[in-house]
Amino acid sequence: MVTHPADVQLSSALDVSAIRKEFPILDQRVNGHRLVYLDSAASSQKPRAVVDSIRRYYETSHANVHRGLHTLSMRATEAYEAARRKVADFIGAADPCEVVFVRSTTEAINLVAASWGPVNVGEGDEILLSVLEHHSNIVPWQLLAQRVGAKLKYVEIDGEGRLQLDQLRELLTERTKLVAVTHVSNGLGTINPVREIVDAAHQAGALVLVDGAQGAPHLPLDMQALGADFYTLSGHKMCGPTGIGVLWGKAELLEEMPPYEGGGEMIEVVERDRSTYKSTPHKFEAGTPNIAGTIGLGAAIDFLNDVGLDRLVHHEREIIAYALERTRDIPGFHGFGPASDRAAVLSFELSELHPHDLAQFLDSRGIAVRAGHHCNQPLMRSLGVNATTRASFYLYNDKDDVDALCEALSDSLDFFEVKPPPSPPSPS
Ligand code: PLP
Repeated sequence: MVTHPADVQLSSALDVSAIRKEFPILDQRVNGHRLVYLDSAASSQKPRAVVDSIRRYYETSHANVHRGLHTLSMRATEAYEAARRKVADFIGAADPCEVVFVRSTTEAINLVAASWGPVNVGEGDEILLSVLEHHSNIVPWQLLAQRVGAKLKYVEIDGEGRLQLDQLRELLTERTKLVAVTHVSNGLGTINPVREIVDAAHQAGALVLVDGAQGAPHLPLDMQALGADFYTLSGHKMCGPTGIGVLWGKAELLEEMPPYEGGGEMIEVVERDRSTYKSTPHKFEAGTPNIAGTIGLGAAIDFLNDVGLDRLVHHEREIIAYALERTRDIPGFHGFGPASDRAAVLSFELSELHPHDLAQFLDSRGIAVRAGHHCNQPLMRSLGVNATTRASFYLYNDKDDVDALCEALSDSLDFFEVKPPPSPPSPS
């Protein structure tokens, strides 16, 4: 069952200063200031254990996987498949064969759109998305819809940035083949009630793909309890390396799906004019995979398990609550997203300052934030803005980081000579 932050029982608090020591990159000064890294929603930093696991692999065990009969190849294969088992345990998959290694969430969604899509979605069929989606959970469906003549529909958000579930239910029809929604919004921090969405979609006969790029790094997962049909994640957002991600799918669905790419590793027999394929997951892993990446992802999972997902959830809930509280006093600060029960993502505008100017000012103070549309252009249009500034927090951030951000935001008002907003008219 996906644990909602409010349900988590805290065992003991996170020792952030000890955790920080595990991330060598954080121990540096940027532009003369202590580095305050608030861009983990884009990509998290990597603990020493992950970097070491990759180095150790290349120094002791590298060879190509699956094909070799020599010791190094068998060692590499064992490490690669051990990483698959770790991912399966971490997300509560029924079987490691449901875990397909891909490059990223982006590739995982494209795989489903390209393989499952044309077989199951036809002319006049519908795919239901939400305005919270990252472009990687929009564009692959646009490509599919254009190819087969299907229609895309969107669920809107309410004033707080939560999905309008009533509207979702209304938009589901017998033509809906798939509901594709994010677990956690990278733009607003909204945590979607995935189980409810899955139940409604399944009742209407549609499958559900959950974009877990922002879910897997921050929430305990159990695929059985979540009930979705596909789930995706990106290693680099959860303390792992870049270039490795996962598509989880129910075994029976993956077995039915045609291969996504052809090549070595995914075949059984190759004739001149046709081939037979291995079963899942190998059917979807053509060519030499990112072996080092999977090993690094396995090490990242070990690291997160050692920290404890329940403690991580509690810590992030505290940090975002503190950030919401602290920023309330900054003149001209306007935050987006739900007031409570949300992920540690803070998207905001500050007076009339352009997010790019603000991000550059913050960088001059050693504070790394993101500014722009965050690959959320439909969401930005719904919010009536072109861009926001976004601070995103993770297990190595603490209240000092929030304080540094707030102090720099206040200073930016002086730096850019922003006039204070007019005080409200006094009651007559
Ligand atoms: N989905 C969400 C919600 C994201 O936040 C991101 C990345 O920011 C992605 C998908 C795409 O992830 P990747 O670039 O690792 O494929």
